Amino acid sequence: MALLRFTNPTDIPAYSGWEFKVYAAEIALRAEDMRDAYAAYMENHRRRFSNIPKDWGRYAEAQRVAELLAMMNEACEVDKDVMLDGRDYVWSFSSGLMFEKRFVSVTCPECHRELSPEECRVLVWSYGGGLAAEGGRRVVCLAGHTLYSCGEWNS
Ligand SMILES: [Zn+2]
Repeated sequence: MALLRFTNPTDIPAYSGWEFKVYAAEIALRAEDMRDAYAAYMENHRRRFSNIPKDWGRYAEAQRVAELLAMMNEACEVDKDVMLDGRDYVWSFSSGLMFEKRFVSVTCPECHRELSPEECRVLVWSYGGGLAAEGGRRVVCLAGHTLYSCGEWNS
């Protein structure tokens, strides 16, 4: 079974205000699960955004996601693991898998332990108020270190 490995990015600018420390955990996902996530994005893109101007950010994003989809297809076919930069449309695209605990393993750099999904907890976070409120979920180890976090809404 081919895996996609990446390091949880700790320097996403949009999330610099997180009220908990985020660790650079090593995360392993099934390449076929990420293939499905990229394929769903491309399907939606083709249906709704196929004629957008080439200078839109979304156009460049779709170009890159198409490349990542091809990479996952290749990894599944030849059964070879892939390592990617977490900031490269990997971190945000994996949030569904992470919060549904559909990852293979995550290694806490503080505890020096590789954890299975059963050993992790998924917590809901939110802070702020009014028009400056935001929230999401995060994956924590047994000691409470945040190994993955992603915003899911803001007001
Ligand atoms: Zn830990």
